[in-house]
Amino acid sequence: MIKKQRFKSQKVQALDALLRCLPENHRKRFLIQSDYSKYWKGLQGERSIDYELADLPTDGYDIYRDVRLVSDSYTFQIDLLILTPYFLLIIESKNLNGIVHIDKTNQFFQIIEGKETKISSPLHQVHRQVFRLQKWILSHGIPHIPIKWFIAFTNPTMTIRNESNDYEIVHNILHAESLTDTIRSLASTFQKKSLSKNELNKMHQFILSEHKPPTTDILNDYNISIQDFEKGVRCPKCKKSLMRISRLIWYCDHCGHKSKNAHVQKINDYFSIVNSQISIQDGGEWLNISSRHVIRKLFYSMKLVAKGNTRNRVYVPPASMNVK
Ligand SMILES: [Zn+2]
Repeated sequence: MIKKQRFKSQKVQALDALLRCLPENHRKRFLIQSDYSKYWKGLQGERSIDYELADLPTDGYDIYRDVRLVSDSYTFQIDLLILTPYFLLIIESKNLNGIVHIDKTNQFFQIIEGKETKISSPLHQVHRQVFRLQKWILSHGIPHIPIKWFIAFTNPTMTIRNESNDYEIVHNILHAESLTDTIRSLASTFQKKSLSKNELNKMHQFILSEHKPPTTDILNDYNISIQDFEKGVRCPKCKKSLMRISRLIWYCDHCGHKSKNAHVQKINDYFSIVNSQISIQDGGEWLNISSRHVIRKLFYSMKLVAKGNTRNRVYVPPASMNVK
């Protein structure tokens, strides 16, 4: 059963919003674009693992995504953690293409179009996670439970070329598509439960309550201020011109496109990157509209929920689409 959804999709959403709202020639655009591709690729890889894991029994396998825990004031992150009464399983996903070559000395290389580049060993990373998780479990008075791990390559077209005889490399590095079968055969090697139902529940509560969500202050991360953004609504069709609004209809003078809801994306982008709430005044500046009356109507059309008294009134997304 999936016990915790991931945060990574929120990050991808925020980076996507940044790219929509920053001017074409903004100094940070290149960096944000490359981070976006990296996170997007990672997210696609993890989603393909979700797809593979859907074949696991719903009972007895609790799945947590993007878990961030603290052990000895050191934060460690696990892409995918599976809790069973018999063992804990860490799955580190890698979305690489081409050939991953592991040589006799356990060094990792990626080969793309004949060009070989050394990459950092995912083993170091996963060993650190195991070590941290062990300490974390111990510090919470949870009985000993074996920690197992796999490194799963999510791109079905990549090739693993392994020359190493290392036991871990041979047995713990695999393609995501064989993950479910491998987990099943791993489970069949355990006879004795390590955790009782009570202890399992305790561990579950600890994971959720001690999870430290990553900071979502994306403007700070990229040293961007609200002045950097393009104000107003760009035509979603031709993207060449900002739109003007008249009687609550948006018009593009460049391509003639008309829209009743061209502002919706822009306001949702505000929630993703600037603040989880918006005032009438901030909305006016963001959409480049001087009439408070028009802004209020646009907010109502999006079913934003008003909070606070008249002087300090702000609007938040309806609960169903709450971003933060
Ligand atoms: Zn247009």
